[in-house]
Amino acid sequence: MTTGPDSRNPFPGNIDRLFAHCRVATMANGTYGIIENAAIAVSGNKIAWIGPMNALPDSLPGKIEMTDCNNLWILPGFVDCHTHLIWAGSRSEEFEMRLAGASYADIANAGGGIFSTVTATRAADEQRLFDMASRRLSQFLSQGTTTVEIKSGYGLNLETELKMLAVAGRLKQAFPQHIEATFLGAHAVPPEFSGRSDAYIQEITQVILPKVKTQGIATAVDVFCENIAFSREQTRQVFDAAKDLGFDIKLHAEQLSDSDGTGLAAEMGALSCDHLEYLSDDSARKMADHGTVAVLLPGAFHYLNETRVPPVRLFRQLKIPMAVSTDLNPGSSPVFSMLPILNMACLRFGLTCEEALAGATFNGAAALGMTARKGSLTPGRDADFVIWDVDTPADLCYLSGITPLKQVVIGGQTVYLPD
Ligand SMILES: [Zn+2]
Repeated sequence: MTTGPDSRNPFPGNIDRLFAHCRVATMANGTYGIIENAAIAVSGNKIAWIGPMNALPDSLPGKIEMTDCNNLWILPGFVDCHTHLIWAGSRSEEFEMRLAGASYADIANAGGGIFSTVTATRAADEQRLFDMASRRLSQFLSQGTTTVEIKSGYGLNLETELKMLAVAGRLKQAFPQHIEATFLGAHAVPPEFSGRSDAYIQEITQVILPKVKTQGIATAVDVFCENIAFSREQTRQVFDAAKDLGFDIKLHAEQLSDSDGTGLAAEMGALSCDHLEYLSDDSARKMADHGTVAVLLPGAFHYLNETRVPPVRLFRQLKIPMAVSTDLNPGSSPVFSMLPILNMACLRFGLTCEEALAGATFNGAAALGMTARKGSLTPGRDADFVIWDVDTPADLCYLSGITPLKQVVIGGQTVYLPD
């Protein structure tokens, strides 16, 4: 006889797996939420129960596969909410040029910068892009990242933007991680529209975006609002079109100067605004009023040798959730793991370890509008978590040069074990 949940048996269905004798940081609501000597019961792809071992019911329903975690730590899998994971070509020469003192203009004149990535990405066929992106996504998995947002934006024309998003779709099928695809056609003005950025915005809103919608290959639309990219007014036009078509919106904003893209994005209901080094107090208040997540990208700050940090104290004061992300891209953040990003978020931006870890889990999920499924370990959420061989969760921010990862579980399945 089967019965519903009761006090003796709180499980709504059969239990498939039990992770016993672990220490857990649930990261629920963006705090550690530590449970010592804990157990996690998984039913299907969801967490059915989590709590101290001594509160486990005597008999559990179902044929259960048991994992003894030997007192290791379990945290939610990382949610990397801002990446440019699909590209072709390399920018390491540019890195060397910058170290030798070359300016942005020198690099552009030598054929470097974002347009070298655009040229290489346009030239690569879908299979080649897929193969290169697969290696990067495998690396993410080995570093404990279980949800990844991937942007287009190195095509800057209909054909290549669709090709990039098609690759994201294939990655979704081929990998266990959850992938959210974002259309970032407004990443830069393509060379063939040089001096005619309004015409390119029109191409995006009238031609490319409707195609992206018809093909159902992205859920959100992003824009780079900056003096070297698109204006606040152009951003508004893209967002208007995106919202009309039912996309979520988000913004690269206030990275190099204050264009008040953030104020606009917050008022238009953006999920997140990302970078934010030059954010004004006024725009921050708009984020607070509209529940916009601040996505901090310390990798780009570090690689570009920036000096102005985002207003972290103001975010705390206004209770604006802070996510952290790799911003994986070949130009300014070739970082394939959340672990160094956690370290940079603490040392360069002044986050506490708890804030950094919340940024890589719960608030990363908030930046994708997914806290009901991802980013914390509570009953009903997806069973996406990582077993770490560390003494404390803070070790994930503190240690450098090792990956103390023992197992990655996604949707209740073990999907990665290190050699
Ligand atoms: Zn970015």
